[in-house]
Amino acid sequence: MSVQDSNKNSRRNFIETTAKAAMVTAVTASHLSVFASNNKFAPVLPTNVAPNTSPAFIGTSFTQLPLPYAYTALEPFIDALTMEIHYSKHAAGYAKNVQDAAAAENVNTNSNLEEVLQKISSYSTKMRNNAGGHYNHELFWNCMKAAPAGVPSGVLAAAINNSYGSMDAFKTQFADAAKNRFGSGWAWLVVTADKKLAIGSTPNQDNPLMDVSAFKGFPLMGLDIWEHAYYLKYQNKRADYITAWFNLVNWDFVAARFEKAMQ
Ligand code: MN
Repeated sequence: MSVQDSNKNSRRNFIETTAKAAMVTAVTASHLSVFASNNKFAPVLPTNVAPNTSPAFIGTSFTQLPLPYAYTALEPFIDALTMEIHYSKHAAGYAKNVQDAAAAENVNTNSNLEEVLQKISSYSTKMRNNAGGHYNHELFWNCMKAAPAGVPSGVLAAAINNSYGSMDAFKTQFADAAKNRFGSGWAWLVVTADKKLAIGSTPNQDNPLMDVSAFKGFPLMGLDIWEHAYYLKYQNKRADYITAWFNLVNWDFVAARFEKAMQ
């Protein structure tokens, strides 16, 4: 076991132990900032591990990674044809276009996408739309898994209960954010700079890491509410898609991001 792994395990053990003793205290005890300028989100995974299949996924590359499940895996809640078009056409398009934008704007594509997003006002509209689109989709695929979703556990569950009162109340607020976003966009659960959970939404392919976003934080999970994400099955019934989507949430992935963000 490497020193890094050992540290990670020690930290996890600490968090679990602390959570049992003092639940939400663990959430506020951390001193490292999510938004530190020297990027705390550099990849910490061994290079032989595909980062987007790991619950510790935090460093997003400029390349579209393989979908971590089959197109059929999310049925009946999201149908295979929607997944295929969404991944292989829409998301693949963002991935190609962000590479084109990076080439045109002298961005090193071996860096983390997060670094570009945090200063997106320095780049073109093409970069904003496609860096956002690519990041958001890479996150989105990993926020889902085959049903059933189960429930959050550990410090994330404690933080949700502390912030929203109950899981049901949390879901209602998140669904409202998704329903009330006019036009295309995303609904988010984030950790804010002062280490609190927050629910919000962004238009188009913006996201809460962007310096231009009115809603800011480190994204724990994002829900795609563009019509291309649901129209084949749900047509105009966005609310039904949102309700169904909760059957697919990969809470282990979301909880791992939360732990990472609170370090
Ligand atoms: Mn999409």
